[in-house]
Amino acid sequence: TFPTLASDFYGFEALLADHERDALVRLRTFLEAEVKPLVNDYWERAEFPRQILPGLHEQQVFGNLWEETKAGDFSAVYGGWTALEMARVDASVATYVGVQNGLAMGSIGVAGSPEQRAEWLPKLKTGDVVGAFGLTEPLSGSDSAQGLRTTATREGEEWVLNGSKRWIGNATWSDITIIWAKSTEDGQVKGFIVPTNTPGYSATKIERKQSLRIVQNADIELTDVRVPESHRLQNANSFRDTAAVLRLTRAEVAWASVGTAIGAYEAAVEYATTREQFGKPIARHQLVQDLLSRSLANITASIALCTRVSQMLDDGVQRDEHASLAKAFATTAMRETVGLCREALGGNGIVLDYDVARFHADAEALYSYEGTREMNSLIVGRAITGMGAFV
Ligand code: FAD
Repeated sequence: TFPTLASDFYGFEALLADHERDALVRLRTFLEAEVKPLVNDYWERAEFPRQILPGLHEQQVFGNLWEETKAGDFSAVYGGWTALEMARVDASVATYVGVQNGLAMGSIGVAGSPEQRAEWLPKLKTGDVVGAFGLTEPLSGSDSAQGLRTTATREGEEWVLNGSKRWIGNATWSDITIIWAKSTEDGQVKGFIVPTNTPGYSATKIERKQSLRIVQNADIELTDVRVPESHRLQNANSFRDTAAVLRLTRAEVAWASVGTAIGAYEAAVEYATTREQFGKPIARHQLVQDLLSRSLANITASIALCTRVSQMLDDGVQRDEHASLAKAFATTAMRETVGLCREALGGNGIVLDYDVARFHADAEALYSYEGTREMNSLIVGRAITGMGAFV
């Protein structure tokens, strides 16, 4: 019967094909049984529960977009729902998949040669190889289209990489990292598949994060790192190709932000119906119902937006500004929603055991990564006006 999630108020899940719904239910069951019981403790310890990875990689979550790895006809709308389901349990787990499936596999899927795709995509799908995506630098975040300082210098059949990267997800334990660097030959941004055991490559965990504590982010140093020409992504010729990867993943982050909002909302509904004040459940107080109603409105509007942006990908008509609008809107709505839900729990809203505190903290990272709200607004603004206002 639909909707199967009460928080999918308009029943958008009914738009999925039967085999997609079955796969989604399997994923939901796995997450609730195997992941949910772990996440608050791992969040507190700032560690990733790697024991979930074999089970997670068996789900129909990885590689659905690429010929080399897809196992049936799974739509982008289904892919979005998987991001929602994961973030509904834990935004860090959704982020692990966003990096592995979206950024690492996405870079190779979008910009790799047939040989590179055949070599790496199947291993990334199974989790035999863990990937990371190194674009951001200590001195270049929002301006990475122009501002990258990491260089790639051609020497015969090799490239020599030098520079620093910051915030790189999964990079404390990745086997390969996609490094984006400016060619000293033509000044264009190029992508490289860098095995992390290459001499001159080092990654250091960023400590004391207060959002997405389960995700392991790293600072990377590249000192005369040599990779063969065969490791350069053969179809990444400029930042335009990097942006094509980001367009895919931004839409997924929009979906994950809805999941994060739903996680907080479901915890708030449960709390409101059991906690009593003034002699009745707080859910019977009108103002508490208003908190829940506003949250559900944000969630419902965001699912509608995300559904359409993924349908546009399925139809081959999605553009950068479409994904950016969804990311900017859904993350803003999420940020308001987790705040409303935290409010509904009163003091317990800041205690990890009630889940909402984790969703509330994690929302901040989703709001800022994969392009801040401002940068995504500027991408939309450029589409509206025809005028770039970045610089
Ligand atoms: P800045 O670019 O310094 O921006 C600071 C503020 O200035 C923002 O509010 C921004 O919107 C604003 N601003 C900047 N320029 C303008 C302008 N022209 N107009 C208006 N406002 C402007 N990167 C990777 O490459 N790989 C990863 O795996 C990865 N994972 C991440 C995980 C986490 C948890 C986090 C927090 C970040 C991650 N990032 C990753 C980096 C992320 O993409 C950047 O943090 C993001 O792009 C913003 O860059 P910045 O933090 O340097 O902020």
